[in-house]
Amino acid sequence: MSGYSVVPFVIAYAREEVRDRLVFEPHAGSDRGLRLAYEIPRKGDRVGGVLRARVRDLRRRVGKRGPERMRMLNTRRQWLCMDRLLCQVCSRPATEPGTGRSWWILVPPVFEVDDSGRGGRTNAPPTCRACVDIALSECPMLRADATVCTVGRVEPAGVLADMYEPGPVPTLTAHNVYVSWDAFARHPHILATSQVVQLHDVRELVRTG
Ligand SMILES: [Zn+2]
Repeated sequence: MSGYSVVPFVIAYAREEVRDRLVFEPHAGSDRGLRLAYEIPRKGDRVGGVLRARVRDLRRRVGKRGPERMRMLNTRRQWLCMDRLLCQVCSRPATEPGTGRSWWILVPPVFEVDDSGRGGRTNAPPTCRACVDIALSECPMLRADATVCTVGRVEPAGVLADMYEPGPVPTLTAHNVYVSWDAFARHPHILATSQVVQLHDVRELVRTG
């Protein structure tokens, strides 16, 4: 995606990464009596009971943010885009006022089609209509294998997360695992890095490649 003339809103910058220490803390609500936490807790660490990866937001601080990391998403900006259906490139609304439908560029493997064939799950936020054209013309990967769609309904599905096991220090056991919002037994062991939504009423407009 290095062909973008503008760095997309969701893309992470090198100095936004936060590596604060993780611990397992006593927690009555979890099956083994422990849950993952930051050693020094902060308000906003948890979303829906799930620990969310801390990141800085240095997008507007050009001198401080470091180089962009083109395949990495900034967790907070990704989350915001999904919550409000904002364009992942320009951060403006990706929903058309007239129709209420949002625009998406769906690229495997970030998009997983469900059994019905008319919807699926993704952690890549929507792309507004104006940015769809720019993205397709500037990004070779999108040109190779992408579907442009409008979507009638979007609902929260879960998160992509790193999985940890308790020990003297929390041990990372798996990376980028999908965990649904109702898989409560797994929640105490995960660090969420992006939000996954379920798309319903998907209308395909363009298939490239
Ligand atoms: Zn846009």
